[in-house]
Amino acid sequence: MLDIERIRADFPILSRKVNGHPLVYFDNAATSQTPKQVIDCIVDYYQNYNANIHRGVHSLSQEATEAYEDARIALQKFFNAGKKEEIIFTAGTTHGINLVASGFASHINEGDEIMVSALEHHSNIVPWQMLCEKTGAKLRVIPMTEEGELDMNGFHTLLSNKTKLVFVNHVSNALGTINPIKEIIEQAHKVGAAVLVDGAQAAPHIQADVQALDVDFYVVSAHKMYGPTGVGMLYGKEKWLNKLPPYQGGGEMIEEVTFEKTSYAGLPHKFEAGTPNICGGIAFGCAINYLLDLGMDKIAEYEDKLLQYATKELLEIDGLKIYGTSKKKTAVISFNIEDLHPYDIGTIVDKLGIAVRTGHHCAQPIMDFYKIPGTIRASFSFYNTKKEIDTFLNAVKRAKIMLS
Ligand SMILES: *Cc1c(COP(=O)(O)O)cnc(C)c1O
Repeated sequence: MLDIERIRADFPILSRKVNGHPLVYFDNAATSQTPKQVIDCIVDYYQNYNANIHRGVHSLSQEATEAYEDARIALQKFFNAGKKEEIIFTAGTTHGINLVASGFASHINEGDEIMVSALEHHSNIVPWQMLCEKTGAKLRVIPMTEEGELDMNGFHTLLSNKTKLVFVNHVSNALGTINPIKEIIEQAHKVGAAVLVDGAQAAPHIQADVQALDVDFYVVSAHKMYGPTGVGMLYGKEKWLNKLPPYQGGGEMIEEVTFEKTSYAGLPHKFEAGTPNICGGIAFGCAINYLLDLGMDKIAEYEDKLLQYATKELLEIDGLKIYGTSKKKTAVISFNIEDLHPYDIGTIVDKLGIAVRTGHHCAQPIMDFYKIPGTIRASFSFYNTKKEIDTFLNAVKRAKIMLS
């Protein structure tokens, strides 16, 4: 069992007040809070060994390089990648997706098809639309069901040997649905398509094994995994990373430069042009170790209890409807109460110290499907408690009375 009180003490921000009330932070699907172990790691870097990496012979540079490469190995182990060269540091999920989309421009032709799902975040839709515009490929959309799950019959119908790429999130950020990515990957490979999985929302809850999944690309953001903003990871199979051209030109990504011809560095440096977010990468490694110390299974088990409790209690409120009722969900609840505006409810609960997200959650197509402008989304972490959920339930009931 997790010792929640001890864990909460690791997160300094959880003891602050907001609008005179103790903070209740239920916006973990947008960004997670940072434990002092990760904050200490950031301070330690700038106080003791801040230097550019991979270049200097001096000691500080060597220490920084070693710490940065250790973080890469921590990520490799966490996601069970076969080689550390398959782990590319990025600025986050959006950057990782764009890197792959831009690289595929030279592998996609007119008449080819790219498949995305109806449950995607905008960052997993727009880059593919841009790729289709550039190449003349067609975008196909895996439909969704009323429960907020992918319609797998629809997927099978759309899949053909024209399909070159499939993009799907592991967990939907708007609804919390855990998608059957193993089946999607297996089926896509049968027609020779590559699969990119957006793991941004899954990674803080589910430890993906990229080799067991046989996924071609997997992308995440550190800031949703208790690390800092501005850093993330792209895992890519070596054979794909070797095929794709570099994303950006600059220092670090070259082997030899003359004005006639430049040869590129090997993996992973080919995709890491310029000075990276060194401190961010190192802190990402610290965050991974923090998660592993708690234990991913224990985290999932505890968060699921919070999800079940909050779901049951919220449904007691008259007129409240939950969107996304899949049996396989992470701890995300998207809901509305009758025709009350999500924004108004969000504003009232904020006055009571509670942080939730309101709006379309960067997933407008899902909102269009349900014919709603948006939802209120409460998303839980292992540092949240049943008592906080009770505070939230009272605040929602109060908002309902005030607004009806
Ligand atoms: C947050 C999120 C993203 C975008 O991540 P950034 O860190 O903003 O690049 C993409 N997909 C999903 C499912 C997300 O939850």
